[in-house]
Amino acid sequence: ESKADGRGKLKVFEPDMLLARQMRNQMVGELKEAIAGSQLVLYYQPIIRLDTREIEGVEALVRWNHPTRGIIMPDEFIPIAEETGMISDLGGWVLRTAVEQLKKWRSDPLTAGHDFSMRINVSAADLQRLEFIEDVREALASAGLDPSLLVLELTESAVIQGNDLDRYTLNSLRRLGVGLEIDDFGTGYSSISYLRQLPVDTVKVDRTLLSALGSDPAQPALLAAVLQLIRACGLAAVWEGIESAEQADYLLSIGCTSGQGYYFSRPLPEPQLTEQLKHYKTWPVS
Ligand code: C2E
Ligand code: MG
Ligand code: MG
Ligand code: MG
Repeated sequence: ESKADGRGKLKVFEPDMLLARQMRNQMVGELKEAIAGSQLVLYYQPIIRLDTREIEGVEALVRWNHPTRGIIMPDEFIPIAEETGMISDLGGWVLRTAVEQLKKWRSDPLTAGHDFSMRINVSAADLQRLEFIEDVREALASAGLDPSLLVLELTESAVIQGNDLDRYTLNSLRRLGVGLEIDDFGTGYSSISYLRQLPVDTVKVDRTLLSALGSDPAQPALLAAVLQLIRACGLAAVWEGIESAEQADYLLSIGCTSGQGYYFSRPLPEPQLTEQLKHYKTWPVS
């Protein structure tokens, strides 16, 4: 269609936009059912101590097991849940399910030999709700777990662009004793002064920083500098997106002792991770 042909343009675009809106509306309705019903499922990805290969954490990652479409990934529905306010119900379910799962692993004699924390991803919207603090306290209390066994992963933009309420929530959570971590560090508006000010304990470095290792000659030095920066701020570093033995070895050589990625394991459904936990004390790498 030519640009000048305004009428032609309308005819072409209108049905598409209508279709897009219908599909979205349908998805909103279905997501509501999914949260209320039992279509959400948590996958778990281990976080490994790079020197001993022990499991030091497990990150819960939500999937939507759609009745006809199969597994839908979070990038496709978390934004919709956030825009429609369903994220608090979704996040509440994730919180309770993940905490209950950790309790199961810690109380089953076959898996209790492991000592790791549970990491969950928290949406910026959660920090805007005062009830979130109570939700976290309650989930931990009803599972009888020490708060230090839960680490909340927050994206940089959520904490850095945050307002007073966010800061209040973060400080309350910290007083409760849960761990706080900045996720996807290095992708957003990272600022050194924020790293010093925020009430967080750990920083998870985004996998894009690691993916250039091997192609960009400046990258090894850059990774080492990022790690030093995090340490200088008094924080611990976790590296995400480790996909090869070379990457794991390089990180260990510069003193990074924690990481996660496909090289160790993809996120696994609970029964599969439970099997691994039963059979291996340290993570097996092929
Ligand atoms: P994230 O928290 O940064 O999670 C890491 C993502 O990287 C996960 O994608 C994980 O499967 C993937 N990943 C892990 N190791 C590797 C690797 O070695 N290579 C590559 N290429 N990718 C790797 P996933 O599961 O699709 O989740 C995407 C994002 O969705 C998460 O990013 C998080 O921001 C969000 N998300 C997931 N679950 C939840 C949840 O329960 N609540 C909220 N609010 N957000 C969630
Ligand atoms: Mg995360
Ligand atoms: Mg991340
Ligand atoms: Mg991410």
